[in-house]
Amino acid sequence: MESVIRFIDKKHDNYLNELRDFLKIQSISSDSTKNGETRRCAEWVASNLKSSGVENIQILETGGHPVVYGDYLHAADKPTVLIYGHYDVQPVDPIEAWGTKPFEPVIKGGNIYARGAADDKGKLFAFIKGVEAWLAVRKALPINVKFFIEGEEECGSTHTDSFLEEHKKLLAADAVALSDTAWFAEGFPCIQTALRGLCYMEITVKGPDHDLHSGSFGGIVANPLNVLGHIIAGLQDEDGKILIPGFYDDVLKPTDEELEGFKKLPYNDAEMKRCAGVSSIWGESEFTPLERIWIRPTLDVNGLIGGYTGEGSKTVITTRGTAKISMRLVADQNPVKIAKQFEQYVKKMAPKGIELEAKKLTSAYPVHFPASSKFVQGASRAMEQAFGKKPTFIREAFSIPITYSFLKILNAPSVLIALGHPDDNLHGPNEKFSLEHFFGGIKMAAYFLNEF
Ligand SMILES: [Zn+2]
Repeated sequence: MESVIRFIDKKHDNYLNELRDFLKIQSISSDSTKNGETRRCAEWVASNLKSSGVENIQILETGGHPVVYGDYLHAADKPTVLIYGHYDVQPVDPIEAWGTKPFEPVIKGGNIYARGAADDKGKLFAFIKGVEAWLAVRKALPINVKFFIEGEEECGSTHTDSFLEEHKKLLAADAVALSDTAWFAEGFPCIQTALRGLCYMEITVKGPDHDLHSGSFGGIVANPLNVLGHIIAGLQDEDGKILIPGFYDDVLKPTDEELEGFKKLPYNDAEMKRCAGVSSIWGESEFTPLERIWIRPTLDVNGLIGGYTGEGSKTVITTRGTAKISMRLVADQNPVKIAKQFEQYVKKMAPKGIELEAKKLTSAYPVHFPASSKFVQGASRAMEQAFGKKPTFIREAFSIPITYSFLKILNAPSVLIALGHPDDNLHGPNEKFSLEHFFGGIKMAAYFLNEF
């Protein structure tokens, strides 16, 4: 390994120049006026893979933005890792909030500032350069590697699942490695072993067939908005515990080791309050705040529609009200089952004279990749060697839906290797990526190939 690591140390300037070129391409996948740039970015990635020594490079059509594929499959009887990343980026507005130009990378205070620096070009590029270092120094890889680099992650990955289905054989691997996550804090490298899922419902409560005078009819008809309020209040207790029968049945218990790891992290109530702009932290008192966002499912009303919302008063009983309600799920909850339980429960709460419609808008399965798996353990050793500190196994509060697709379609678990920093401003103005994490990430990738 030493010769590979020495090689990486000598190439910092080259890596930085190449990363700058990558970041200059305006691959905003949701903006069709940038389709030419997005395609040029796929071509850039393909040619960089080629000069890095990767073989069988292909730009594959998806019906949307293309996928870049490449592999190096010469380690007979050794496992195969699929390295996943995305070359597309988010739009840049509000442009006036940027201190520098989003597609003209600038280095300041040890960080590189540009759209895509952290999400996901910088992190993905670290993996490509780790592979390149092995091939340059050792003329071989210790395992088999495939790259699957998409261009639609930031616009909903519309074609990704069908692409995975169609290219199951090409993409077959023992596990997927991806870096689209961040360290808990500086000095606290981590590996995410679970991501929450989602069940997003919309309920519409229908009452009278036309607006009624609340003086003439108040007290004799069920008011859809009152009913909606009553139903919402019945979903949770004051502490946030969800009251839907059976809701917690499939919630996986965390291990004692996991909980111990969470406790060692520098979580700070005051900082969380500052980030959220609230005067107090709220939630289930028998769980710590980190446990509440990582290992507990939650329920939130995201929007309410209904009734008179104009200036002044209007004494009306309206015909209908709608609520958008999302539930963040944890392993091993199933969003299809949860949607059914939710629907049955809210329908039971609706009084006579009220028709209730419930529909599932979107969902994502939660995923769990236990820390005990040999792939996660390999990643942990690679992180420790590259950054000098054992990573903590944490969970993530949000979802990365493609990890479930990899599991379902390719039967391959994911290894979520964090390289970012929590304040990298992903999707926002002044996105940045730490150069220390970038160069460390290249070493981590080189060690990872060895440890996988
Ligand atoms: Zn993103």
